Amino acid sequence: MEIDAAGVMPAMATLEVAGATLRILESCRSLWLFDPTRMRFRRLPLGAHIDTPSSDRDWTGYHGLDLDLVAGTFVVGLNPDGTHLLRAWVHGEPCRHCGDVTAEFSLSALRSALSPEEAAL
Ligand SMILES: [Zn+2]
Repeated sequence: MEIDAAGVMPAMATLEVAGATLRILESCRSLWLFDPTRMRFRRLPLGAHIDTPSSDRDWTGYHGLDLDLVAGTFVVGLNPDGTHLLRAWVHGEPCRHCGDVTAEFSLSALRSALSPEEAAL
């Protein structure tokens, strides 16, 4: 598996767009652009031009980004309490996740989804 220039993993890259350094994650359905400086992100459909001009309305604020390399998921915290989360599979090649849908989880649902019992199935 090749490691990209950012040295994290192929799914994570950084890109300079309009003077901002964005972190790019690819899930099975979308490209996710994170602007860590302004703590906001936007999603683009796969295949969209990454430098498509955007307005502030296209961006959503976030409070945390957890990338789980083992599980192959990332979780975006949408509120300061961490109770409103957006979770998605990191798309890989080959991809073991395609077919799953990005969904919003409650914290308890997320915990149970990540429990060792479930992971062993
Ligand atoms: Zn996939």
